[in-house]
Amino acid sequence: MEVLFEKEKPIPPYVRVTASSLKRLVKNIFTALGVRESDAEVIADVLVTADLMGISSHGVQRVERYVAGIECGAVNVNAEMKFIVDSGAISVLDADNGLGHVAALKAIMYAIEKAKQFGVGVVLVKRSHHYGIAGYYALKAVEYSMIGISMTNSEPLVAYIGTVERYLGTNPIAFAIPRKHPPPLLYDGALSVTPVGKIEVYSKIGKEVPAGWVISSTGEILSGDAKRVHEAIKKREAAILPLGGYLEELGGHKGSGLALVVDILCGVLSGAAWGSHVGYTTVKNANVGHALIALDISRFMKLEEFYERLEQMIREIKSLKKSPWTENIWIPGEKAWLTMQTRLKIGIPIHLNILENLKKTASRIGVKFDVEIVKEHTT
Ligand code: NDP
Repeated sequence: MEVLFEKEKPIPPYVRVTASSLKRLVKNIFTALGVRESDAEVIADVLVTADLMGISSHGVQRVERYVAGIECGAVNVNAEMKFIVDSGAISVLDADNGLGHVAALKAIMYAIEKAKQFGVGVVLVKRSHHYGIAGYYALKAVEYSMIGISMTNSEPLVAYIGTVERYLGTNPIAFAIPRKHPPPLLYDGALSVTPVGKIEVYSKIGKEVPAGWVISSTGEILSGDAKRVHEAIKKREAAILPLGGYLEELGGHKGSGLALVVDILCGVLSGAAWGSHVGYTTVKNANVGHALIALDISRFMKLEEFYERLEQMIREIKSLKKSPWTENIWIPGEKAWLTMQTRLKIGIPIHLNILENLKKTASRIGVKFDVEIVKEHTT
C-alpha cells in the first residue's frame, strides 16, 4: 500500500504543483534577473527542496525576498567567489556578496574534497547572503558517505537571554549523517523557538502565533494574529525568543548560548559580520557568514561498523516506551524524507496567497507563469 505522509499539513485554499515545474519557474525568475543559469539552478533546487521536505517557511515563499535583494543591488549576481584562506583541512571563502545558496554549496563541496584528503574539511564563508535551509548543504556530504555539518548566522531577530533586544540571528545548525539505507539522519533546526519564516507564512495564510515565540521590546509576550506579530518584528518592536524561551528555568540560556557560538564560528572567526551587524537580504554588504564541515567516517572506523552501530542506536530509540500522547517515535530527517517522497508523487501544496505572489513576481519581470497544477483544494 502507498504510504502518504506530510510533516506540514497544507492549509486550504491551496493547489498541488509538480516539483519540476516549480523549479523551472523559480530558475526562470532568477535567470531573468541576470543570475547565471547554473546559480539559478542552485537557488531553485534549494527552495523547492525545502517545500518538498515540508519546510514552507524556507521554500518558494522566499522568492520575493531574494528577488528584492537582487533588484536593489545588494545581492551581486556576478559575484566572483574566492577561497582566500586555503591551508590543509581549512579554508575561507569570500562570497563577494553573491547568493548564499551558491556560496554554501561551493563551500560544502570544497569541505568534502578536503575531507577526502584530510579526513575533515572545514570551510567558513564570509561576505555572503541568506542561504535558506541549512540541511541542504549538510546532505551533500552524505552523498559521499560523510557526515555534513552546516550552520549560518542571520540578521538579528533573536533576544539574547535576559534581554528584549534583537541581537542574535535565528542561526540554524544542521547535521546530516548517512545510514545504511535512506533516509539519512538529518537534524536541521533554528536556534530560536521558531524561524521568522514560520511567522511570515502564518501571516500570509492567516494562522495564529502561539504564546512563547515572540517578546516585545517592552518585555510583553506577543501572540495571536500573525500579521500583527510579524509587523511588530518588521518594525523592530519585537524579538523572537531563543530556543528554550525567555527564562533560564525553561532553558533559554542554552538556546541563546548555542546561537552565540554558531555566530562566533560563522561570523567572528570567518571574518563575516556577527550579531546585530549582520544584514538582511536587501542590505548592501550584509556580510552573512556560514560554516560548512565534512567528516569522513571511514577515517574513524569502517563505514559498515559505523552503520551497524548507528542502526542499533536507532532501533533502541524506536523501541523506547512511548509517552501517552505520542503516536510515533521519529528520528530527525524521517518526516522530511517521507514528506519529500509523498510530494514527489502527489505534488507540492502551495497556498493560493503564496501562488498569487509568485504569479505577480513572474509577471512583473516578464517570466511565463507555467507551473503545472495537479490538483486544487479550495476547502
Ligand atoms: P523544525 O523545528 O521543523 O525541525 C528541527 C529538526 O527537528 C528537524 O531536523 C526535524 O526533522 C526534527 N524533528 C521534528 N520533529 C521531530 C520529532 N518528533 N522527533 C525527532 N525529530 C524531530 O525546524 P525549524 O523550524 O527550526 O527550522 C526550519 C528550517 O529553517 C531549517 O531547515 C533551518 O535550516 C531553516 N532556517 C534557516 C535560517 C537561515 O538564516 N538560513 C534561519 C532559521 C531557520 P524532520 O524534518 O524530519 O521533521
